[in-house]
Formats: sequence, C-alpha cells, structure tokens
Amino acid sequence: MLTNKSTTIMGEVSVFDKVSEMGHEQVVFCHDEATGLKAIIAVHNTVLGPALGGTRMWMYENEQQALNDALRLSRGMTFKNSIAGLNLGGGKAVIIGDARKHKTEALLRAYGKFVRNLNGKYITAEDVGMNSSDMEHIAAETKHVSGMPEARGGLGDPSPFTAYTTYMGMKAAAKKAYGTDSLAGKRVSVQGAGHVGEYLIQHLKEEGCQIYVSDFYADRVKEVVNKYGIEGVGLDEIYDLDVDIYSPCALGATVNDETLSKLKCDIIAGCANNQLADEKIHGDLCREKGILYAPDFLINSGGVINVYAEVISSNKEWTKHKCEEVYDQTLRVFEGSDEHNKNTQEVAIEIAQQRIDSIAKTKATF
Ligand code: NAD
Repeated sequence: MLTNKSTTIMGEVSVFDKVSEMGHEQVVFCHDEATGLKAIIAVHNTVLGPALGGTRMWMYENEQQALNDALRLSRGMTFKNSIAGLNLGGGKAVIIGDARKHKTEALLRAYGKFVRNLNGKYITAEDVGMNSSDMEHIAAETKHVSGMPEARGGLGDPSPFTAYTTYMGMKAAAKKAYGTDSLAGKRVSVQGAGHVGEYLIQHLKEEGCQIYVSDFYADRVKEVVNKYGIEGVGLDEIYDLDVDIYSPCALGATVNDETLSKLKCDIIAGCANNQLADEKIHGDLCREKGILYAPDFLINSGGVINVYAEVISSNKEWTKHKCEEVYDQTLRVFEGSDEHNKNTQEVAIEIAQQRIDSIAKTKATF
C-alpha cells in the first residue's frame, strides 16, 4: 500500500528525496535473473534533447553506491552536453559487476532490451568497464546506442577524443597558472591507465612531461610503464607526489578532504567524472589552496562530442574543431571564477544551466 512516507533504500536514504533534490526525470532499475543483470539507468534532464551518456560496469560495494554513481554521473552529463553546445540531455547507466568476470554477450543484450524500452529517451555509449565491441552486443537489441565500431558505421572508441579535450583543458589551465600553455618539463601524475588515461599519457609524453601513473590493476601499470618509459606509483602514493599537475583519470570523488590535505599540485585536470567529492566544499577548498581546478565535465567532453557526431552523422573535422573549443571555454571559466569570486566548477555549472534554462523557456509554436 502506498503511504505518504518517502520510501527508503538501504538505511535512511530516500530514493525519491535524492532524485528530487538532484532533479532527475526518471530512474530505471533493470533486473534480469537469467544473466544476473542488475543495472540502473538514470535520466537527469531532457530539455536540450535525448539523454545521452555512457554505461559504466563496476564492482560497486553496495547498491546505494551504484545508485549514487548513476545519479551523480547523469547530472554531470546534463551539464557536459549543455556546456559543449550539444543538443542532448543528460543520462547515464551503471551495471553492477566486475567487467573482467561478469560481462557476457547475454548480459549486454539483456541490458540493451532495457535501453530499447526507453524508446530513445536515453542513448547509451561506453564508460568505465565497457568498449566499442560491447556496444555491438547492446546494438543487437536497440538502435539507441552510439560509440559503435567504425566497421559498423560508428565513429569508434570515444576515448582518444576525451583524452584530447582533457589535454586541451590541461593546457588552458597551464596558460592560466604559468602564463604559457606549454607542458614541457611539467611533472604530471595520471591516476588510472585505462582507455582515456593511456591516450592522455601519449599526448603528455609527446610534449615532454615527466609522468607518474597508478592503476587499480598492476598489469595495466606495468604495460604503460614499459610502453612509455614512465614511472609507476602506488594507489595512495599518487596523492603524496610532488607534482605540478594531478590528473584524475579513474573513478570519481578523489578530490576530497583527505586528498586535498596531501596534494601539492598547482593544477587538477583529468578526465574522470565527478572528481570533486562535494562540488561546493571541495571546489572552494581547491581555490583557497591555490589549486586551479579544471572542471571535469567541461574538459572531458571530447568523448560525448564524438559520440554526438555519430548520432547526427557529422564528420571528424567537425569533431576536432568542437574539441578544440574546449581550450577557450576553459579559459572563459577561469576568467569567470576570478571575476565573480566563485569556484571554477560553480561557474561552469552556471554557464551550462543558463543554456538549459533559456531553451526550456522557448514555447512550441505551430
Ligand atoms: P577505463 O575503464 O578504460 O579505465 C579506468 C581505469 O581506472 C581502469 O584501468 C581502472 O583499473 C582504473 N582505476 C579504477 N580505480 C582506480 C584507482 N583508485 N586508482 C587508480 N586507478 C584506478 O575507463 P575510461 O574510459 O578510461 O574512463 C576513465 C574516466 O574518464 C572515468 O571516470 C570515465 O567516466 C571518464 N570518462 C571517460 C570517457 C571516455 O570517452 N571513455 C569520457 C568522459 C569521461
């Protein structure tokens, strides 16, 4: 029986309170017994267009953690798509499980059916734990999927584009912090040697940075250390390094009270989503400590720009041009931060929200 009390999930947290606080339109819990699929699709905002955002597969410690991740990531997509000037809303999905052990064709197809049932309100793509060939399995069940392999008419892995805009954002941060956007000789710690992390390492290596890398998987660290001649460091050691730039390229919330008490960098610029554990508290704390924070959703937009190009059948030149715009946009956010005495994340969110609000006000006419 329905009561007027908020439903709680796992302890005291109400799903509806959380969803209404963060402004989500729809959250779908997907379960398939045969394949063991447990997924959450979160559609945050569709004012600008269908919600587009990747699917993450990760071994969450509990369901609450997975839900929080889906809610936070989908909200981030709303701002990312808006500030990048794309006609897309924000959404994201998480699959609970170990991608190295539990990801099967059947599980991905079961998930694809849930995406299909949303009739295009949500379009999926890759995120942590997923790749282009996984998108092919999902595409067997739904056309609302992007980031498909080039051989299947897609634009392939979005990660190189994400790495490129992250690199553009890092250069803009260097311009602001050091007066030059050259990264030559800069000491950069890259947390996470995944798809994007490795492409970013390539850009940094070409520019002559001194690079430190950590990864959850020791084999990944070994691979990139051998391939690029860089230095591998421990999972926690990365926060203690004496570096110029810390680049979070793994999971979120790594910029928090504990890490900010250790970090000695001038700049934080990485591709990971939701780097600030608390946008207000840790955005402000970065500012107070004199650390220039390049907003994550602004500088990691290359992947979704490439994926959007696939959706609207645009070409690589358009994508490259759009990715390069991130450099100037990042500088504008830094200027806004100085001008209005606000943290950089706040300023970037305001720019993104203004676009959404202005489009929401336009009325349909016939
Ligand atoms: P990926 O799964 O290829 O790589 C992530 C890597 O981080 C893995 O190798 C994993 O082992 C490692 N990792 C996890 N926890 C770690 C920890 N505590 N310390 C060090 N390493 C850890 O994912 P990806 O596609 O490279 O994405 C990386 C980040 O960038 C994610 O936050 C993702 O949401 C974000 N992002 C990715 C894209 C894209 O195009 N792939 C686009 C925008 C944002």
